[in-house]
Parts: sequence; C-alpha cells; structure tokens
Amino acid sequence: MFTSINPATGEAGDSFAELTADEVETRVQRAHDAFQSWRTTDYATRTALLSAIADQFDANRQRLAEIAVREMGKTLKSSLAEVEKCAVGFRHYAQEGPDMLASRAIATATGKATARWLPMGPVLAVMPWNFPYWQVVRFLAPTIMAGNVGLLKHASSVQGVAAAIEEMVIAAGAPAGLFQNLAIKSDKVDALIADDRIVAVTLTGSEGAGMKVAEAAGRALKKVVLELGGSDPFIVMPSADLDQAVKTAVTARIQNTGQSCICAKRMIVHADIYDEFLAKFTAGMAAVKAGDPMSADTDMGPLSSEEQRQTVLDQIAMIEKEGAKLILGGEKLPGKGAYMSAGILVDVPVDHAVAKEELFGPVAMVFRAADIDAAIALANDVPFGLGSSVWTNDPAEREQFERYIEAGMTAVNQMLASSPEAPFGGIKRSGHGRELGPYGLHEFMNLKTVAG
Ligand code: NDP
Repeated sequence: MFTSINPATGEAGDSFAELTADEVETRVQRAHDAFQSWRTTDYATRTALLSAIADQFDANRQRLAEIAVREMGKTLKSSLAEVEKCAVGFRHYAQEGPDMLASRAIATATGKATARWLPMGPVLAVMPWNFPYWQVVRFLAPTIMAGNVGLLKHASSVQGVAAAIEEMVIAAGAPAGLFQNLAIKSDKVDALIADDRIVAVTLTGSEGAGMKVAEAAGRALKKVVLELGGSDPFIVMPSADLDQAVKTAVTARIQNTGQSCICAKRMIVHADIYDEFLAKFTAGMAAVKAGDPMSADTDMGPLSSEEQRQTVLDQIAMIEKEGAKLILGGEKLPGKGAYMSAGILVDVPVDHAVAKEELFGPVAMVFRAADIDAAIALANDVPFGLGSSVWTNDPAEREQFERYIEAGMTAVNQMLASSPEAPFGGIKRSGHGRELGPYGLHEFMNLKTVAG
C-alpha cells in the first residue's frame, strides 16, 4: 500500500494499493494497444482531447489543488496556480501543436526530401512530488499531441495526485490506455524500461534516480530525458535594481518551501552591494511566514516530509561544522508538521561537499564576488547546470552572463519560471534533453526523412 502522509500534521490520509505484476502487465499491453489506434488519429482529434483535459483541470481546480496540499504541503494558493498552469499547458499544445508538427521540405543534391514528425509509442514517465501536477503535464500534453501514449510512475508520496490526473484524462474522453497511472514502487521501473513495448523514458527527480533510470535506458538503448536537480545561482550586480532583486530573491528561494529544482539557491552578490543586499535580504527572509498551507496569508507550508526536512537540517549542520554561519532561521519549528524557518548561510566554504549539493529547502547560501568574472566562476562551480537568474542593467554584463553561465536557462532581471512555450531543462548533472515548447514535443518523436 501507498499511504499519503499530510506533512502539515503528520497524519495519514488516503491509501492506494500497489499494482500486482499482472495488473502492470495488463496496463502495459493496454498502452501498446492504445498506441496502435492513437497513432492514426488526426491532429484535430488530439487537440480536441487536449482542450477537454484542460477543461477538466479547470472544472476540478479546487479539489485537485487540495489533494496536492494534503499530500506534499504546498500552499493552497500555489497549488491552485499549479493546476491553472496545467490547463494552460494543455491548451498551449492544443493551439500550437499542429504547427510544431508541420513537415519540412528539404532540397537535396539528388532531388528533394521531407522531414516528418511521427509518433514512437508508449513513453514511461517517472515523476517527483514537488510540482505533482505540472511535472506530469509537461510530459503528458506533448505525449498526446505527438500521437504517443503515456504511462506514469509517480512519486510514492503523491499517489492521490497521480490517480486524480488519470481521472481527469478519462473524464475528458480519452480512449482506454492513452494515459495510465502505474501505482508501483521504484524497484519496478527497470523492468518497464527493458520492456520492448515501452519506447522511451523521462524522469524528473534526484541525480540518484536519474542515474539509475539512465543506466536502465542505456542498457535497453532507449531515449531518455532527465530533468534533475539544480543549485541555481542568483547573481546581483551593482547596476541592478537592488530592491526588486532582493524581493525576487526571497520569493525565488522560498517558493514551494524551497523545493523546486529551479529555486534560486545560491545568491552571488557583487562586493560593492553585498552588505546592503544581505541586510535587505535578511529582513525579507525573516518576514517569511511559515504555517498552515491552507491559509491564504501563509508564504510557505511545511517541507514535503519529515525526512525531507531532516535532510536539509543535516546539510546545514554539516556545513556549519566547516565554518559556514547560519545568520538567520534554518531551524525546525516546534509542534506538529515538517515545518522549518527560512534561513540564510554566509561564509560558506565553497569547496565543501554541501556547497556543491542541492539544498532542497528554504535556506539560501549568500556569497560575495569581487567582479563579474568571479561571480560567473562561482556560479559555474557546482556540478549542476539547470537555471540561473542574473540582475544587471549593463548590456555587456548581460551578454557575459548569457554566454558563460553554464545552465540550460538564464533569467535576466526576473525570477526563473517554466512556461509552456519555452524549452526547459539543464546541462551537466542537471540532466539532458528539453521539456516544453516544440523541443519537448519533439524529444520522443521519430523525425523521419522521406526522400523523393
Ligand atoms: P527521487 O529522485 O528519489 O524521486 C523522484 C521519482 O523517482 C519518484 O517517482 C521516485 O519514486 C523515483 N525513483 C527514485 N529512485 C528510483 C530508481 N532507482 N529507479 C526508478 N525510479 C526511482 O526524489 P526524492 O523524493 O527522494 O527527493 C530526494 C532529492 O531529490 C531532493 O532532496 C531533491 O534534491 C531532489 N529532487 C529534485 C527534484 C527536481 O525537481 N529536480 C524533484 C524531487 C526531488 P519513489 O517516490 O517511489 O521513490
């Protein structure tokens, strides 16, 4: 059984039975069969279904949002925003999908050819708990548009969300087997990747899970997209609007209680404005209100579990031993629930292992940089390369950041966020491949050359 634990109270919620081996087999075969007919559908059929799923998300917005709050502790307002974003994501592919799949004529030395986008088959998605709807939609909307079909292995802690997504797709009128939830533990994933009926796999989650899934995909010679962790830099230069940078830095660090792959995790501040930034940032982080995620005036709910909180507290304790100073918060809050306060670490030894890890909680590391080269060097001095946010009003600095920060995404004078239109993904140990936009749609398609 999977049992949801409400991280705000520690109380057990709904339970879900793990699928038996026979039930998994039935679903995989159903996915295989569904693909044989879904691949033949025209684009109008696919876009109509995408729009109908968007309508289901809209119509069930409140109920869906509350399930996620209960299962992983995000605030209700952010959960509602996530569900709304899912509807936008489905509609984006409904509106733009056909153009993204347009064939392209190519002149060749011997005549002409056409490049055509064709579906490939059932795709397996292994997804995390932190944006339990949106992470799935990033895979599911393009899967449907492509003419593929989807199987979901969601995180153990959000099986209620997983079941709700399947319910929305079925209620929208999807044919049987187009999208199925597999309530299974992670030790069942390898066998699925090896199964000939599954053509590709996408994973969002930790480096460890990414390595295991990539290994299995490598053995089976299957395509894999990996969206793993990040330790995103947030760089502030003297030419920036400091107050706006500070305000955004707070939001970018504490969103989702610090549990987003693209949270700003390392604030890198030019020496000339470091003291002023730190004073204002400390005031901003001190004002963050942690509390009941259902309440409208809460900024930050609990972490997703007691274990997740303990991981963050252990990381802080380890780096404090090496000389880092916790100048604000970063502590377990008394009472029930996996709550902790927003925190700030300074004087962080840059070569310490923890300084190079992902801090998946509401604690920022703040670094001083002598100049832009030092800031970029520090930004790149981690194994990750997912997102980044840079604050400058100097065009030459902007160009340097755009070119030399090792990341899949750089936001300028704004908080980094995913949007359905733009590619999303990382480099280095943050993974490979892209989600969203036409790029995400094309990842699991056969770009066939038709010569003649
Ligand atoms: P995991 O990476 O373990 O979980 C993500 C998904 O992968 C879940 O569905 C999980 O299933 C599955 N999974 C885990 N191990 C394997 C495996 N060996 N083979 C196949 N699937 C696997 O994340 P955690 O929840 O354990 O969080 C740990 C850390 O990961 C966080 O502290 C954070 O640093 C990072 N993380 C990053 C995310 C991001 O958005 N980049 C999202 C979530 C976590 P199950 O739940 O059943 O174990």
